[in-house]
Amino acid sequence: MTSLAARLARPEILDLKPFDIAAEANAAFGADAIKLDANENPYPPLSSGPLAAAINRYPEPQPHRLRASMAALYGVEPDALVVTRGADDAIDMLVRAFCRPGIDAIAITAPTFTAYEHFARLQGARVIEVPLAKNFDFSADGFVAALTHQADVKLAFICSPNNPTGNEVDPALVLQVAAALPQTIIVLDEAYLDFSDTPSLAVEAAKRANLVVLKTLSKAFGLAGARIGCAIANPELVAIAARALPPYPLPSPSVEAAMATLAPARQAIHQDRIARIKAERDRLAGLLVASPIVKSVRNGGGNFLFLQVEDAEALASKLRALGIRVRFRPNAAPGAVRLTIGTEAENDVALSAFGVRNQSRPVRRAELARDTKETKIAVAVNLDRSLPRRVMTGIPFYDHMLDQVAAHGDFSLVLSCDGDLEIDAHHSIEDCAIALGSALSQALGERRGIGRFGFALPMDEAEAQVLIDLSGRPFSRFDGKFEASHIGAYPTEMTEHVFRSFSDSMRSAIHVRVEGGNDHHKTEACFKAFGRALRQAIRPEADSDMLPSTKGIL
Ligand SMILES: *Cc1c(COP(=O)(O)O)cnc(C)c1O
Repeated sequence: MTSLAARLARPEILDLKPFDIAAEANAAFGADAIKLDANENPYPPLSSGPLAAAINRYPEPQPHRLRASMAALYGVEPDALVVTRGADDAIDMLVRAFCRPGIDAIAITAPTFTAYEHFARLQGARVIEVPLAKNFDFSADGFVAALTHQADVKLAFICSPNNPTGNEVDPALVLQVAAALPQTIIVLDEAYLDFSDTPSLAVEAAKRANLVVLKTLSKAFGLAGARIGCAIANPELVAIAARALPPYPLPSPSVEAAMATLAPARQAIHQDRIARIKAERDRLAGLLVASPIVKSVRNGGGNFLFLQVEDAEALASKLRALGIRVRFRPNAAPGAVRLTIGTEAENDVALSAFGVRNQSRPVRRAELARDTKETKIAVAVNLDRSLPRRVMTGIPFYDHMLDQVAAHGDFSLVLSCDGDLEIDAHHSIEDCAIALGSALSQALGERRGIGRFGFALPMDEAEAQVLIDLSGRPFSRFDGKFEASHIGAYPTEMTEHVFRSFSDSMRSAIHVRVEGGNDHHKTEACFKAFGRALRQAIRPEADSDMLPSTKGIL
C-alpha cells in the first residue's frame, strides 16, 4: 500500500532522483578522509573569535553591507545583485521565478553541473539537453540551433569553467548566444571563474536584458559551509527574481562570515591561495599524465582536474580503501574522475594513489590572521619561494622596509593590514612585526637544517649590522639613534620596537647596531641587513637535517 505522503506528493517530486552530491559518500568515509570530491577550498576561512552575529534578531533580507561588498567585488551596482544561499539557491530562485510547471523549459549542456536539471524538474519544467561538442567544447552555433525552434525556453544555462569538464567558454560566444536568443535568459554560471584567466561577464549582465551571471563565495573564498552566492543581472530582472526567495534567506552568522572573508585586509591572502591552488592544479596535471591509470587529463579553468581513467570502478575501490575522496559521475561522465585540488600535502597523497612518484619536499610556509581592536592583519610566508611579495600595511615607507626584508631574505611574503592609522602608525607597525615574526617562526617549524648568522651592510654613509640566532629564546639588543622623528608616516622610534617584536615573536636573539648620518639610510640598512642575515639563517643546508644546536632542540 502506498503511504499518504506518496499519494499526495506531486508526481514531479516522486520522479525526482535524489540530489547527486558528493555528500552522498559521507557514510562510506571517515571524517579524516582526504576530501578531493566536492570542489571545496581546502583552506578554512581566516577568522579569529566567535562570529559577531546577533542571531536573536531576524537578518536583513538582503544585508546591505554584504550586498555592497559583493557588488564591489564583481564591479556592479548593488541593485544589480541579489545575494542568495549559495549559487545553488540562485538557480532555484531563477527557475521558480521564470518557469511555469508543465509549460516552460530550460536548456543545459551535457555534461554539466546537475543542479540546473534538478531544480527544473522540481519545478515541473522541461529540460532540453544540448550535448557539448568534441572535447567538451561549447559550440555557440550548435547551442543556438538546438534552441531556436523550441518554444518557451525561459532559461539557458552555460557553465564556464564547466563542472565537471573544466572547459571554459569564450565570453564572446556567450554574448553571441544572448544576442541570438533574445526571448531567453542566458544564465552564465561563473562559480569557478576566479581560478581561470577568462574575464567575467558580470558587468555586461548588469546592462543587458537577458543575461544573468552566477557567483559564489564557496569555491574561491573557502566559504562553502556558509552558503553565500549571488545572481547578477539588470536591476529589474534582479528584483523580479528575488520575489521567489523566502523572507529571510541569509542566516546572520553566514553574513558575518562572508563580511569577514571579504574584508580588505584578507584579499591578498585569497589571491595568494588562488594562485597556490592554480599552481598545484598545473603541477598535478603535469604529473598525472605519467599515471598508469590515467588516459587523459583535462586541465581547465576550475579548482579541479577532469581525468579519463582506465578502470573507474577499480580506482574507486582503491581510493575508498585509502580514504581519498574524488568524484565519479558514472552516468553523466562514465570513465571519468573529477579531482579537486587540495593542499600540497593532500595532493601528494592523491598522486601516490594514482601511481605517480613525486618528490616534493614539505614546503616551509605559514599563513596566519591576527585580529585585534586596533589592527586586522593577514600574513603568508613561504621560505622556499621568492615570489610573490606584496606588503600593504597602509604606511608606504614601512611597506618598503618589510619588502626589503623579504627581498633580501629571499622568501615570499604577502602581508596586509587594516589598522587604526587615524590614531597613529604605532599599532600597525608593531602588530605587523609580531604577525610576520610569528609566521616566520611557524614556517621554520622545528628549525632543522638552519643556522645562526649575521650580516653587516653599508648604505652610503650609514652602516648596519644585524646578528640573528634562531635560538628559540627571545632576546633583543638595539644600538642606534635617529635624529628625525618621522620618515613619511613612519616614526623612526618604531624601528627599535619592530626588532624587539621580531625577536619576541620569532623566539630569536636579534642584535642590531646602526650608525650614520641619514635616518632614511640608517633605517633601510637595518631592514636590509636583517633580511640578509635571515636569508642565511633560514636557508636549508644542502644535505643536513641536523638541528644546529648541541642540545638537540631549538
Ligand atoms: C559548486 C557549484 C555551484 C554552487 O555553489 P554554491 O554557491 O555552494 O551553491 C554552482 N555552480 C557550479 C557549476 C558549481 O560547481
